[in-house]
Amino acid sequence: MGLPPIRPRERGTRSNRGSQGDEADRLLRSVSASLRRRLRFVLPARAFQKQASGALVLLSIVGAMAAEPALEFRAATPMVNGEFQLQLAAPAGNFFRIQASRDLFQWENLVTGRSAGLNSYMDTAAPFLETRFYRGYRLEETNVLTGDHLATDDGDMVIHPINHATFVLGWNDRMIYVDPVGGSTPFLGLAKADLILVTHSHSDHFSSDTIDAVRGSNAVIVAPSAVYSGLKASLKSLAVVMANGAATNLVGLNVAAAPAYNLSSSFHARGVGNGYVLTIGGCRLYVAGDTEDIPEMRAQTNIAIAWLPMNSPYTMTVSQAVSAVRAFRPRIVYPYHYRNQNGSYTDRESFKSQVIQNPGVEVRLPSWY
Ligand code: ZN
Ligand code: ZN
Repeated sequence: MGLPPIRPRERGTRSNRGSQGDEADRLLRSVSASLRRRLRFVLPARAFQKQASGALVLLSIVGAMAAEPALEFRAATPMVNGEFQLQLAAPAGNFFRIQASRDLFQWENLVTGRSAGLNSYMDTAAPFLETRFYRGYRLEETNVLTGDHLATDDGDMVIHPINHATFVLGWNDRMIYVDPVGGSTPFLGLAKADLILVTHSHSDHFSSDTIDAVRGSNAVIVAPSAVYSGLKASLKSLAVVMANGAATNLVGLNVAAAPAYNLSSSFHARGVGNGYVLTIGGCRLYVAGDTEDIPEMRAQTNIAIAWLPMNSPYTMTVSQAVSAVRAFRPRIVYPYHYRNQNGSYTDRESFKSQVIQNPGVEVRLPSWY
């Protein structure tokens, strides 16, 4: 047929391709040939296509030819906003991965999950793409970092929310912990930290004991000076103090400290806390910290992912966050730090609905609490 070879894009993910991958490639090559003929194709029973919102969605399972596939897509439901909600059945406790493609040739990892039986995943990138294909497979490893993926020039980044302001990033066997608090329990089963970023000294961001519990033996702690003062003595030798505007290279990536402060209250004074911009495999990731929509946020450029806090008066209102996003146009936003003092949660869906059309920003809403 003269079709180009399948070139799965899976650098740095250590996925278990092998014979399953070969089988999938064979299956997908036949899919592609059929699509070229008439954009209609009947896959084996465990995959199907669905036409909605102008997008062609085709689902397949790697290894679907096997006698007993461990995974099964149950549905791809188009949302009014153009997103697709995928439902994937897999034996509870199994780790699985969902991949997506625009053309059946280049595949990206969307998410790695641990199955709860029937699993839901919202493909938030779908509104910005004409065509979307999905496939999934089971991972044989038993301890895998779960979360959304971001493809960088140097392997995938996996984004693993923990709680409120706390999350973990996995990249090329390196673990980056952001504002780890809550003791060791929330991090059980995760590899120890190689790099720990602390934004400021408030207790929902900084705990010296937690840092001690999650740090690897060679970990580097990046913190503003007020946090350094609060570190236990044994941790001080691991710390790099960074003030707003400073930048340095650590564990194979670049870390720059950005301002983070309030404009309309005094909870966070200018110059005390940090946000961070990480440059990893050519992608710029912006952890805003506790801040309002300050000029320095609005002037950020070329941000792949921004984590933006939304709980006024400590950080931003939804409308401040919307306004900021329209100014600096990150590719993807994770609202985080969105629990209010009275226990309620800021309306992330409202934020999402406002920025998905204008300026066309992908918003991911995994569970943080
Ligand atoms: Zn704070
Ligand atoms: Zn906070």
